[in-house]
Amino acid sequence: MSGDSNTLRKANKDFRWEGVELLPYKEDTRALFKSITRQTLFSHPDLDGELRYFEVAPGGFSTLERHEHMHAVLILRGSGTCMVGSEVKTLGTNDLVTVPAMTWHQFRATGDEPLGFLCMVNARRDKPQLPSAEDLVAMKQNPEVAAFLSDEKKG
Ligand code: MN
Repeated sequence: MSGDSNTLRKANKDFRWEGVELLPYKEDTRALFKSITRQTLFSHPDLDGELRYFEVAPGGFSTLERHEHMHAVLILRGSGTCMVGSEVKTLGTNDLVTVPAMTWHQFRATGDEPLGFLCMVNARRDKPQLPSAEDLVAMKQNPEVAAFLSDEKKG
């Protein structure tokens, strides 16, 4: 949809939008993630940001990653948990999450329904970095983070 001039895209049922393609979450096959889809809602050459909608199915999770660009996230649907740096937080509908630059982060759908969220990012951005074994050891020094990350194995 990049560069088109549609002024209105009507919402369809189930968090889909007219003319917006439902895409796989990532191209990076090294990344560990589960049951998540992506829709790019706004992307235009005249705007330096993009707005995407991600949806994590119950039990699913986003990639554990960090990067130079930041995220502004608005939960639109469902509930879950997130890890942002050393903090683990419970998420509910309409909560806002700020992910600063170079901060490890991950979102998990812990409820019975999908966790859907809007994510605002820079249009031009660096590639996400994945944690090394050493990074994971360092992260798990924090017991709360260790407990959050241990859920991955059940996935
Ligand atoms: Mn990210």
